[in-house]
Amino acid sequence: AKDGGRGRYHFYSQDLHADAEARSAMEEDLRDALAKGELEMFYQPIVAVETQRITGFEALMRWHHPVKGWISPHRFIETAEDTGMIQQLGEWALRQACEQLASWPGDILMAVNVSPLQFANPNLPSIVANAIGHAGIAPSQLELEITETVFLQDSAGTEAMFAALKKLGVRMALDDFGTGYSSLGYLKKAPFDKIKIDKSFVRGITEAGSRNAAIIASITSLAQSLGMETTAEGVETMDELDLVRKHGCSHVQGYIYERPMDVRQADARIAAGLEA
Ligand code: C2E
Ligand code: CA
Ligand code: CA
Ligand code: CA
Repeated sequence: AKDGGRGRYHFYSQDLHADAEARSAMEEDLRDALAKGELEMFYQPIVAVETQRITGFEALMRWHHPVKGWISPHRFIETAEDTGMIQQLGEWALRQACEQLASWPGDILMAVNVSPLQFANPNLPSIVANAIGHAGIAPSQLELEITETVFLQDSAGTEAMFAALKKLGVRMALDDFGTGYSSLGYLKKAPFDKIKIDKSFVRGITEAGSRNAAIIASITSLAQSLGMETTAEGVETMDELDLVRKHGCSHVQGYIYERPMDVRQADARIAAGLEA
């Protein structure tokens, strides 16, 4: 048993070593990815329930690694945050998305994800203002998606940052609502334009006895009374679509309509008309 224990320990420590190596290899690759043009923005349509039209797109980052192929942001955003590279990647994503939007019809919105680390950067408002100015879009066409995590930090700084961004005229969306530390207090302090209901609530909404339907209904009625829109994320089936509509979500984003697409596909989708 002693030997087995040692053996396991040895095996485990080798594993840790391999993990650390893989992590630093990813760090190094990611450092070069931007310069080598391996990063690309994809765009996923967001559909208004009432009009059945595409009203905007969410910009989603993709990494095309020369050897490993497509790498999901679930895997590399964390590395980018751990190393601080997220500041640079985030600014690049914002500029890309704004420039792309400038070539599309003026009534389309562009939603861009902003990491809590970017939100903690005092330069964020000027970075956003520059991206808007450089692209020549209206600030009200840009929506910044932030998660509940930002409200864990120093609240005076958080409120000041939120106010500074709103002052630029951009829209603010609360992303992944319900997955974090959901205190409703910050909805009072931070007047979001939109709440994005996480796909974990949408999944299973159709099951008998599911509480998700009741949760979604109460989020949408709260949002409505506060004058906020709601987007149901990750809607994949017709049944899910029917239910999120019935429970009052104003917008839907999910594979049921469209997957995230590259620029060429997005251009073609827009040229074909915005009917969902
Ligand atoms: P998110 O902000 O919650 O983005 C929505 C995710 O749901 C996207 O995953 C999208 O492809 C996926 N999705 C959309 N519809 C469906 C559906 O019907 N079913 C399922 N199963 N999934 C659906 P993606 O593109 O892999 O991005 C993952 C996460 O990575 C994002 O989650 C976001 O947190 C982060 N991320 C992506 N791009 C950026 C970026 O430019 N900056 C930052 N800071 N984070 C980003
Ligand atoms: Ca998002
Ligand atoms: Ca989300
Ligand atoms: Ca998410």
